[in-house]
Amino acid sequence: MPEKEVVILRIGHRPERDQRVTTHVALTGRALGARGMYLAASDKGVVESVGDVAARWGGTFFCEDNIKWRTCIRNWKETGGKVVHLTMYGINLPDAIPKIRSEEKLLVVVGAEKVPGEMYGLADYNVAVTGQPHSEISSLALFLDHLFYGAELKNEFSHAKIHIIPSKAGKHTEEG
Ligand code: SAM
Repeated sequence: MPEKEVVILRIGHRPERDQRVTTHVALTGRALGARGMYLAASDKGVVESVGDVAARWGGTFFCEDNIKWRTCIRNWKETGGKVVHLTMYGINLPDAIPKIRSEEKLLVVVGAEKVPGEMYGLADYNVAVTGQPHSEISSLALFLDHLFYGAELKNEFSHAKIHIIPSKAGKHTEEG
């Protein structure tokens, strides 16, 4: 696992419609090297789904709901962390990433429908993954991949109950 500490903060989550996307934000973060996800809403369904995957597929990824996002950002900064806000209005990823790579501790904020204007001022880096609208899942994946230079694709997950044996054809797994 990478030494850099990266945690996701998901804001604007609407439990009645964003459960699947928010779960996928967490699973993408987990697969690509983030340490955990703070969810600025109450949604035990997301927490349980992510917990089930982590229990079976290993690693130490955490998912916490009921987070107050302003407090979370303040606390993160107080402990020396920097805040990256993914937004199509920010500085394009290839231009922003060299400086961000020098940071040791990053809170990566992704929105849902409408992100409060205040967020742009709170972020140390507003980063665009192209200046085109797409999704929090794709922007997070590309951001992490650039951050870790692709090395996250080879991450190993400790204490996994199941492993995939990569195969050219068919589905092969190993328990334990
Ligand atoms: N229209 C909303 C707004 O004005 O904030 C954004 C909605 S978008 C479906 C949800 C999230 O995906 C955004 O908050 C942002 O985190 C992410 N996102 C979408 N496109 C992006 C892009 N091109 N670059 C970076 N992040 C992006």
